[in-house]
Parts: sequence; structure tokens; C-alpha cells
Amino acid sequence: MIIDAHNHVLAAGLYPGYERFIKEMTMGYFQSRGSLPEDRDPQDEDWKGLEYLWEPIDPQTLIRDHAGIGVDKCTILAVAPSQYTRYEARGTVDIAGVTGVEGPPDIDKGNDYIAALVRQHPDTFIGMSAVNPRHRGVKAAVDELERAITNLRLSGLKLYPMYDHWAPNDRDLAFPIFAKAAELDIPVMVHLSTTPVGDTVLLFGWPVLLDDVARAFPNLRLLVCHSGHPWVDECMVLISRHRNVYLDMSFLNSTLNQRETYGFLRRARQLGCPLSRVCWATDYPGFEFPETLLPKLALVNRSAGDDPPIPQNDIARMLGGNYSRFLGVDWSLEETLDQMRSLEPTWSDILNPPPRGAAPEPPRQPHHRCC
Ligand SMILES: [Zn+2]
Repeated sequence: MIIDAHNHVLAAGLYPGYERFIKEMTMGYFQSRGSLPEDRDPQDEDWKGLEYLWEPIDPQTLIRDHAGIGVDKCTILAVAPSQYTRYEARGTVDIAGVTGVEGPPDIDKGNDYIAALVRQHPDTFIGMSAVNPRHRGVKAAVDELERAITNLRLSGLKLYPMYDHWAPNDRDLAFPIFAKAAELDIPVMVHLSTTPVGDTVLLFGWPVLLDDVARAFPNLRLLVCHSGHPWVDECMVLISRHRNVYLDMSFLNSTLNQRETYGFLRRARQLGCPLSRVCWATDYPGFEFPETLLPKLALVNRSAGDDPPIPQNDIARMLGGNYSRFLGVDWSLEETLDQMRSLEPTWSDILNPPPRGAAPEPPRQPHHRCC
């Protein structure tokens, strides 16, 4: 079983704040590609043709983009509610009305939207709730977490400290949430990494801050999203210190070519970060699509050169086994190795497209809407 541990779906806020948020998130990327001017602030007319960036992400498209290359399951993440940043009302909302949750789009219903999508696609989606202690207070966040797990049956929790302006090691704001997660025995994913979005606190994205949490809650399963990018060494060192901490490769893997991906795995080993706690993920619909991100890791040994190959069992576990252990669900190594053998020709064609008579298809336009 192959699992993508990090996906976004629906919209992550109400207009016009949502549009502003996405513009800040994506501006540098499109400037670096020449799609937006770099010598001045892009104006409305400069963004023409890029409006798809702030359209809601359709769950059916998400499923299709994964199924076509052999991904079995996708974690879909709620975005925690907030309305005190310059992006106004932030949080998962169903603007297109695809979830069946009644009433106008509401950032306080983010967990309900994600739970509804899991009920619609129980074999594909793994749903993660989100809460924010600075939104309606710590007690409200703890109660909402309990409701999301006990009533809505979501699988775990995703936290966004830097976006929501609280420190992950804050004893008053953060620890009560981690304590409730430990009591419920659920896995917790934390965005620890930078973001180009301006009204956020860079320090609170520093993965080293999770050391306090891992020490205080040694049995709580924690996962650092995006490998702590750009503090990847710090993230790996953190994981080397705590048996209960994992990482996902999402976003970072879009910035690495295949040889650099091999180097990332070697670096993990050098720093004592076991590959048994490294999880493959995409941050869909981020920089690159699953169709390129999956073959890049699955066939990573093609870029090993004269260096020792990554054992096939380790690769299989990174594609699903490690994240299954983090979730606390069953997973079969033998089955996944068989699956990888049968998918190899498909992945190989993506890495090295066979020559065709016609001109090659243009590459798909990336969305780059990670968080
Ligand atoms: Zn993300």
C-alpha cells in the first residue's frame, strides 16, 4: 500500500483574504519563472491567467491524480481556523459545496468538511483534523479536537503554529493540545518549515522547538511536515533524538532532483535519522505533481551512481509503511514490494519518456499552494 501523507483539498479561507494568502505563497515562485514581474510588485493584471491558483481544490481531481500512478491512499489535511491575520478568515471551507455539509462556508466547520470527504471516499482518504488555540481559546481548541476524533472519527491532528502565531513549545497554548492528543492516542502532524507567506512567525516554524514537546510527551507520535525545510539537518537531528518523531518529505522533494533526493536519504543516515521514520508525501497540489514525485523516490537508486543503493525494503516503507506505523494501521511489506515491481514500468516511462512521433506534451502547470 502506497500512501501520500500530505494533501490539501477544498479552499483554505474566504475571499479576499484567501486570494491574498495564495498570492503571497506563490509570488516568488512565479517571479523566479518569469511569469510575474520581479522588478516591481505584481498588479492585478499581472496575475491574469493564474486565477486557478485560488480556486478550490476538487477532491475528485485529487483522487484521479494519485490513482493514475498507483497511490492507494491520501491524507487530507484540514487547515486550522483563524481570523486575526491580514488574510482575514482562514481555514478549510467548502466554497464549491461538494461535501454536503449544510450552511454557508464557515471556517469553524473545517473538520466537518474533511470528515464528510472521508465518509464519501473511505477507502482513499485519511482525514486529519486541525485546531488553533489562538482562535477561540485553548479550551475550545481542546474540545474541538476531542469532537473531531470522537464524533467525526478523524484519524489525527495537523497543527500550523507559524501560520497561527503560537510557539509549538508554548506551555499554555500548545501543551494542552498535545496532552489531549496523547490522551486520545492520535498522531500529530506539525507544519515546521518556512513559508513565503508574510504574516507568519518564522521562529515558530523552527523544528528544534518540537524537542520540548517530544521530551514532554515521549509516547505521542509526532511528524515534522516538509522535513523542516530549510532546517533539514535540525529536523533530522531532532528525529535522531526521539523515537516518537517522524518527518514527511513534502514540498522539500519538489525542490530536489533525483540525485539530491538520494543525497537527502544519505544525509538522514549520517545524522542518525532512521529511514524508518521518513514518509513520502507531496503537499498536493504543490510545486510538483505526484506523477513526478513518486517515481523520483521509488526509483531513487537510478541516481545512486557508484554509491551504495538504498535498500528496496526501506523505499517500500517510506512509500507507506512508516506512515502506517505513525497512524497505527496495518501495512504489508511483501504486498508493497509486489506493487512496486508491477508499477516500475509506468514510473520508468515517466522518468524517461519513450520517444514518440508527435511533439512531447507540454509539462503541466504546477499549482504551488502548499502550507
Ligand atoms: Zn501542506
